[in-house]
Amino acid sequence: MIRTLRIQLTDICNFSCVYCCHEGTMNEYSILKNRNLISFIRACHDVLGICRVKFTGGEPLEYDEDICDIIKKVDRPNIDYSIVTNGTNAEVLKKLVEEFPNLETTISLPIPLNEMYLPIFHNITGSLNFKYDFKKIKNVIDYMMLNGKSIKINYVLCNGMNTKSKYIKEIIDFAKQNPTVKLRFLETAVNNTNNRNGCMERFVFRQNDFEKILIQIGYEKSVINKYNDIRSSCMYDIDGTTIKLIKFFCGINCTECPSDKSSLWLTSTGHLKICSYGDCHIKIENWQYSQIAKQLEKLIDM
Ligand code: SF4
Repeated sequence: MIRTLRIQLTDICNFSCVYCCHEGTMNEYSILKNRNLISFIRACHDVLGICRVKFTGGEPLEYDEDICDIIKKVDRPNIDYSIVTNGTNAEVLKKLVEEFPNLETTISLPIPLNEMYLPIFHNITGSLNFKYDFKKIKNVIDYMMLNGKSIKINYVLCNGMNTKSKYIKEIIDFAKQNPTVKLRFLETAVNNTNNRNGCMERFVFRQNDFEKILIQIGYEKSVINKYNDIRSSCMYDIDGTTIKLIKFFCGINCTECPSDKSSLWLTSTGHLKICSYGDCHIKIENWQYSQIAKQLEKLIDM
């Protein structure tokens, strides 16, 4: 049953991370402009029973319409909202979390918050203003923690770049010291959106590589006692702090896909799809509520 709607507000980003796969879409420098997102979210809620809306990108805070305004106008109080951001647009992010204290915020952070690792940050993100961007991310995370707001940190494991044991230990220590931080490691996604010439293969770092590092830094017991929360992710209890590994599972036979298929994607080109890496089945051309509702009903029947 579809419960989560992921809206890729734009595929544009101020970074160009080596592992980026733009929510499984080709980067077309597109933005969901002049679309009736308010009607779209309402229809997804009313027709499909969507109860979670996640804003993604690219960098969703590069979107130039007011996200606060959209959430307010949707006016469906039982929807939970979340955002996945690189954290560099601190001003807009702070405004969002102040207006919506329950907004779930996920910041993608490719290295521990330590200025010594700035060159790696630069190499992974391609940021031209990497010192300034890094400072902004650090400030926004500090702001969230100081104000007691919980925050998820997504750390994409990128072999040879941020996977040394000292980096992994440092980011885990950070999560252990800050109970409002939920740390999630992500296996690198490798698919036809980011791996056209096989260039991604060298960055692959999978669960067994990750667990070798955990054992190396003294968490063998956590590896032995790991458990799956859903089939595509694994939890480790590290001295009382839970960390998660989100596994990349595309590329296998779709019939064996462990995804619970509970998400619907709206891409920044206005297409709908029910798998991050799958094809877009429907293009929304008419953004009136009744027309969107019809399209969603068609999707249920597919
Ligand atoms: S910050 Fe996210 S959207 Fe931007 S380039 Fe990096 S992975 Fe892609």
